Amino acid sequence: MDFSWTDEQLSFRKEVARFAREELQDDVIQRDREEIFFWDGWRQCGRFGIQGLPVPPEFGGSGGDALTTVCALEALGYGCRDNGLLFSINAHMWGSEIPLLSFGTENQKKRYLPKLASGEWLGVLALAESVTGVARQGFQTRAQRFSGGYVLNGSKTLVTQATDANLIIVFANLQSADGPTGTSAFLVEKGTPGLTVTGSLRKMGLRTSPMTELSLLDCELPLESLLGAEGQGEQILAASVEWERICGLASYAGTMQRLLETSSEYSRERKQFGRAIGKFAAIERKISDMEVRLESSRLLLYKAAWLKSQGKDSYREAAMAKLYLGEACVQSCLDAIQIHGGYGYMTEYQIERELRDAISARIYLGNLEVLA
Ligand SMILES: Cc1cc2nc3c(=O)[nH]c(=O)nc-3n(C[C@H](O)[C@H](O)[C@H](O)COP(=O)(O)OP(=O)(O)OC[C@H]3O[C@@H](n4cnc5c(N)ncnc54)[C@H](O)[C@@H]3O)c2cc1C
Repeated sequence: MDFSWTDEQLSFRKEVARFAREELQDDVIQRDREEIFFWDGWRQCGRFGIQGLPVPPEFGGSGGDALTTVCALEALGYGCRDNGLLFSINAHMWGSEIPLLSFGTENQKKRYLPKLASGEWLGVLALAESVTGVARQGFQTRAQRFSGGYVLNGSKTLVTQATDANLIIVFANLQSADGPTGTSAFLVEKGTPGLTVTGSLRKMGLRTSPMTELSLLDCELPLESLLGAEGQGEQILAASVEWERICGLASYAGTMQRLLETSSEYSRERKQFGRAIGKFAAIERKISDMEVRLESSRLLLYKAAWLKSQGKDSYREAAMAKLYLGEACVQSCLDAIQIHGGYGYMTEYQIERELRDAISARIYLGNLEVLA
């Protein structure tokens, strides 16, 4: 297996890191406190081509394979400290673009993908429900087929960015004239009568990425709003989850690299008992653990992305990458806080926020306990 990057990938990676450093900096501490999304950053990313990474050129993107996408997202995570913005971008790409790319009709792709790829539109996926979580068999959101289309009733929770979404892919259990047809996915546009985005949910981390609940009350949709075939919800979700598990945590590798660099620098500069703290074995050990975790994360990430880029099955490797990266990033945040001592606990040093943000990766789209 060849793990070397091509020259194009290397220069793209550099260009993304430069873009993130120069264009995606603002007062993230305050936005985190006030739970405000970084719209300027979102638009800049759209212009740069981030949201269009997995979308083929005929639909307005650059058509990067999984490896190139991972390479770019890792660099983005290294240069940009707003994990909420990066999380929303990931939710948009894997939650709306990939399902459309994999299962959309030509008309659906032409209608939605160019706007999603440019960042003009924001797309999300609404799966979780308050009673059953993400267990599809028990979904209370129902779709009923009638001659002109479908009518949806139910509610969803924990939906990232639903307030701002122009397009929501809603999963519902479909009841046709012949009986239950299983979970199906529907394209619901903002402003559709019967769709209401309700109460925003306050969170521990990723606070710059808003989250809400939504309800569907006799929400009528045309026939062409069905994504894929009736009952194909599982396959649609599997396509989204596979990409999300491979690429969704790539930015965490960038974060881990940033944490490693700042912690190493701090351990060289900070003196206690007449020595740089980096000379103490306990601190040295934490720094080397952080480095090992980063390299292990990269290997898992690149292998899963490489398999996907080769058209091979990457389900197992993607799950392992997600499982490991989420844990590794949390542990490296804890080490970085410890190395910085009292300052590491302070908001101003921006490590406590990284920890709050990183913990979410142990939960969304595959709990730690379920993946293990
Ligand atoms: C930041 C964030 C963003 C999110 N964004 C979205 C979004 O955009 N759209 C959306 O639809 N959802 C979203 N979610 C919801 C997310 O997908 C679910 O929270 C997640 O899949 C876990 O499901 P649950 O909350 O129902 O937990 P549960 O499944 O109820 O899990 C509760 C506990 O039980 C354990 N458990 C469950 N099943 C098993 C098992 N079989 N074996 C062992 N242990 C088990 C879990 O590991 C966990 O510890 C988001 C969540 C977060 C945290």
